[in-house]
Amino acid sequence: MTAIRFELERAIVENQLVLHYQPRVLVETKKVRGVEALLRWHNPQRGLVSPLDFIPTAEREGLIRDIEAWVVREALLTSTVWHRDGLDLGVSVNVSPRVLHDAQFMRLIRHALRIQRTPRAFVVEISAAGAAAEPELPHEALGELRSAGVRVALDDVTSLEQLERTRGVRWDYVKLGRAVIGAAARDPDTAALARSLVEAVRPSGARLAAVGVEDDAALAMARDLGCYLAQGYLFAAPMPQKELFDWLRGQI
Ligand code: C2E
Ligand code: MG
Repeated sequence: MTAIRFELERAIVENQLVLHYQPRVLVETKKVRGVEALLRWHNPQRGLVSPLDFIPTAEREGLIRDIEAWVVREALLTSTVWHRDGLDLGVSVNVSPRVLHDAQFMRLIRHALRIQRTPRAFVVEISAAGAAAEPELPHEALGELRSAGVRVALDDVTSLEQLERTRGVRWDYVKLGRAVIGAAARDPDTAALARSLVEAVRPSGARLAAVGVEDDAALAMARDLGCYLAQGYLFAAPMPQKELFDWLRGQI
């Protein structure tokens, strides 16, 4: 067994995984519409580790299913508790496209959804780069999630090719990537790319979201492109649950 596999297994068993939450706001009103759950690993030696630094390892080591199962359960449970406390926030999670092919993961998600108050407030995001790289899209699983009322989002879209390769799915949301939104306000070529992405998405009826909105110019660009939702440091960075509550209180 590799050292990193052992460390990751320990992370799952010893509750070292944690979700941070980043608010998603309506572009028109800046009102909070929900949150995206973003995974962190509280490593006893290394401190807070970014998902970018351990998700690929988890995929390679065959631990991704256990990790995603934890993420889904934790996010659903948290949003159910929030709802009981009178806080009506939709939650989205990022899921590796590979686990959606896994029958055991799908059984688990089905079970988790049965105890969830309303699956409509739950969004499953799949990275466009990850989906485009898969030999086959998890059509069946995505269809099942949609029939159960879960919304599905194509995340971090940065090219027309990714849209082309993922065309067979009815996405509820398409999230324009940080690299596009951040640069489009400053660079005419990126602005042209952003517009062509929007044109390509429009016939599908999917709602557009902008990720990585860091300043007013990026927000103006998101509005101009017809994005419905936005998230980014302009509003708030991802934060632990307790800070999210303080932040939300400041919004009222
Ligand atoms: P993502 O789903 O596209 O999430 C957005 C990333 O952009 C997050 O990075 C967030 O912290 C960052 N971000 C948000 N607003 C801004 C901004 O205004 N400026 C800048 N520079 N960055 C911003 P994070 O949390 O490091 O996550 C990175 C990626 O890791 C996520 O990208 C997602 O693809 C993946 N990820 C996160 N959690 C999970 C998970 O539970 N499962 C899987 N499979 N992947 C996950
Ligand atoms: Mg995401």
